[in-house]
Amino acid sequence: MAGLRDKLPLLLGAKTAKALATSLEIETVSDLLRHYPRRYAERGELTDIAGLELGEHATVLARVEKVSKRRMKARNGTILDMVITDGKRRLTCAFFNQAWREKDLVPGKTGLFAGKVSAFRDTLQLTNPEYELFDAENEAEAMDNFLAAIIPVYPAAQGMPTWSIAKCVRQVLDVLEVGDDPMPAELRRLHRLSDLDTALHGIHRPENWAHLEASRKRLKWDEAMAVQLIFAQRRYSAVSRPAKPNPHVSGGLMDAFDKRLPFDLTAGQRAIGDEIAADLASEHPMNRLLQGEVGSGKTVVALRAMLQVVDNGRQAAMLAPTEVLAAQHARSLREMLGDLGQAGELGAAENATKVTLLTGSMGAKERKKSLLEIVSGEAGIVVGTHALIQDHVEFADLGLAVVDEQHRFGVEQRDALRTRGAGDTSPHVLVMTATPIPRTVAMTVYGDLEVSALREMPVGRSPISTTVVPVAEKPAWFDRIWQRVREEVGKGHQAYVVCPRIGDEPPSDKSDKRPPLAVLDVAPELEHGPLQGLKIGVLHGRMPPDDKDAVMRAFSAAKLDVLVATTVIEVGVNVPNATAMVIMDADRFGVSQLHQLRGRVGRGSVPGLCLLVTETLDGTATRERLAAVESTTDGFELSRLDLELRREGDILGAAQSGKRSTLKLLSLLRDEDVIAASRQSAQEIVEQDPELKKYRGLAQMVDDVVDVDRAEYLEKS
Ligand code: ADP
Ligand code: MG
Repeated sequence: MAGLRDKLPLLLGAKTAKALATSLEIETVSDLLRHYPRRYAERGELTDIAGLELGEHATVLARVEKVSKRRMKARNGTILDMVITDGKRRLTCAFFNQAWREKDLVPGKTGLFAGKVSAFRDTLQLTNPEYELFDAENEAEAMDNFLAAIIPVYPAAQGMPTWSIAKCVRQVLDVLEVGDDPMPAELRRLHRLSDLDTALHGIHRPENWAHLEASRKRLKWDEAMAVQLIFAQRRYSAVSRPAKPNPHVSGGLMDAFDKRLPFDLTAGQRAIGDEIAADLASEHPMNRLLQGEVGSGKTVVALRAMLQVVDNGRQAAMLAPTEVLAAQHARSLREMLGDLGQAGELGAAENATKVTLLTGSMGAKERKKSLLEIVSGEAGIVVGTHALIQDHVEFADLGLAVVDEQHRFGVEQRDALRTRGAGDTSPHVLVMTATPIPRTVAMTVYGDLEVSALREMPVGRSPISTTVVPVAEKPAWFDRIWQRVREEVGKGHQAYVVCPRIGDEPPSDKSDKRPPLAVLDVAPELEHGPLQGLKIGVLHGRMPPDDKDAVMRAFSAAKLDVLVATTVIEVGVNVPNATAMVIMDADRFGVSQLHQLRGRVGRGSVPGLCLLVTETLDGTATRERLAAVESTTDGFELSRLDLELRREGDILGAAQSGKRSTLKLLSLLRDEDVIAASRQSAQEIVEQDPELKKYRGLAQMVDDVVDVDRAEYLEKS
C-alpha cells in the first residue's frame, strides 16, 4: 500500500524514480499523481500531424506507413527511414544504426511516437523517436497500457516518454491508499464532487469521458480550495488586528474639499467613495483593491478617503512605486487641495493639513524635516515610495495607507503594512491599480482584498485612437509617424516616444534577433533626423532622481515638445497637454502595459493618438495582441482578451519562478463558477475554524500549495 506522501524509489525502483526526479521533478506519489495528462488520445483516432510545432517535444498517435533501410556512405552504418501518418499528413522518422527495429516497425501498426520535432527539407521529422506500439503481442504489459479506450498523453521529457509515465502511474495507482479524503464530506456532497481516490484514478485511467470530466472537476476543486483557503485565512488574520474607526466628520476637510471640487463625481466614484467611507468608519481594517482605468479618477477617490482619516486627527500615507511618481503625487495632491493643504503657510485654510514628501534621494536636512513632520503628526498626508513602510519610518498615528499600483506591491509588503498602525492597531489599506483584471483573476490572485472597480470614465474625457503601424509591410508609414508628431507639436501639444530599452547596457552577442530599440539611440536619431528643431527630452529609470524630476517638470511645463522615454512613464504621469504617443517596437510590450502607456495621452480636452510601431508580420500571435489593443479602449475587455491570448501558466508566475504552477487544471477563464463557489466555502470554513484544526486534510492541502506570494499576474517583463 502506498500513501500520497510516500517517496517513489521503494515503489518504482531507484532507477525509474531517479529518472522521474531529474527529468520532471517528480519525487513523491503525490507529485506523480498530480502530474496530470496534458491531453488524451482516443484509441483509433490518430493525432493531427498538422498541429505540430517545430522544436516541441511531441507525442503523436500514428500509423506506420513505410519503412526502408539504407547504408550511410560516409560512415559504416545504416539509417532506417520510417514514415508515419495520421491518415492525412506524414511525418518522417530516422533511426541511426538501429536496423534491428525493422522487424518491430511493421507498416500498418499503430503506436505512440515521441521526440523533438525538426524539419528536414521542408518536411517535419522526428529523429530517433521513442515509440511504443499498440500491438506488441507478446508484451502483455504494453498491451495493458493501451487496453483503455482513452489514452493519457503526459507532459513528457527526453528519456521519460508518456507511456513510461503512464506505466509508473499505473503501478502506483494499483497500490494507492489515499486515506481520509481531505475534502470534507459535506463539501463533496454539496458540490457533487468525486472522492479523491476515484478522481485520481479517473484523471489517469478514465473508464469513459464522464469519469474523466467528474475527476477533473474534483481535482479543480482541490486547487481552488487550497488557494481560497489561504486567502480566507489571510482575510481572517487581517481583521483580527483592529483598526481605529474614522467616521465622517461633518464640516471637516473632506466636506470642504467636496464643496470646491470643480466637477461632479461620477456615479462610480460616489458609490465606491461611500463603500470606503463606511470601511474607514469601522473597526475592521479595510483591505480594498480599487481598480480603475488610467484617468478614471482613482486619485480623487483616494484623496477623499485620506481626508476622512485626517479629519479624525490621524495620518494617511500614499505609497508610489517610484520616486518620480511619489513626487508627482505630492504635487498633484497639493494642487488639488489648494489652501486646504497648506497648513503652516500663509493663506492656509482654517483646518488645513499638510502634504509631506519623503523619498530616499532627499538631502539629509530635507529628509530630517520630513521625518519630523511625520512623527509629530504635523503631516496629515505623507507621500513616498514603498520604502516608507520598509524603512520603518515612524508615524504619529497612521490611519490609512493608499498604495498606488498594486502590481509592484506584493502580499508580504501588505502584511508589513498591517503592523504600522498606532499601538496594536492596523491601518486601513486601499490598494489602487490601473490594470483592470478579470474578476476570476482578482479572486485568485488578490483574493485577500475586497475589490471595487471604477468602470466609467469621467465625462469630457477625450477618446484615444490607436493605430498599429506595421513598418515591415508599410515602410512609407514610418515617415508619416513623425509628420503626425510634428503636426501635434505644431498645434501646441506634446508627444511621447516610448522605447523598450534604455540603451546603456553592454551589447549582448548571444541573440541573432535585433535588440529592441533604445531611448539613448532613438532620441538623437529623431533630434538630428525627422524631429529636427523640436525640443526633445529623455527619461529613463537609470537617471539620477533629480534629473528625472527635472525632465518631468520641464515636460509638464511644456518646455519640451517630445519626451523619449522607457516605461517609467507607464504609471501616474499626468500631462494633459500631451496628445500623441509613439510606441516603438510595440510588440515587445504586454497588452496591459500598452494600454497603460497610452492612457498617458488623451488626458486633456483634445483626442489622444497612439501609434503602435512594429516590425512583426500580420497573422502572428504578436500582431494579434497589438490588434486587440487597437480594437478597444475598454480595459476590462482588454484584460479578458489578454488572458485568452496568454498562456494561463504565466498567470501565477510559475513560469518565471521555475516552480510548478499551483493551478494545473483550474482555468481562470473558464472556471469562474468553481472559483466563486470555493471562495464562499473557504470563507465559511475559516470563519468556524480559522486554523483548520478540524480539517487536517484541508490544512495539508494549503501547505502543499506552492507559494501563492508568487502570484504576480501583472509582473510581466
Ligand atoms: P487615475 O488616478 O485613476 O488615473 P485621476 O484621479 O488622476 O485618475 O484623474 C484623472 C483626471 O481626471 C484628473 O485630472 C482629475 O482631476 C480628473 N477627474 C477625476 N474625476 C473626475 C470627474 N468626476 N469629472 C471630471 N474630471 C475628473
Ligand atoms: Mg493615478
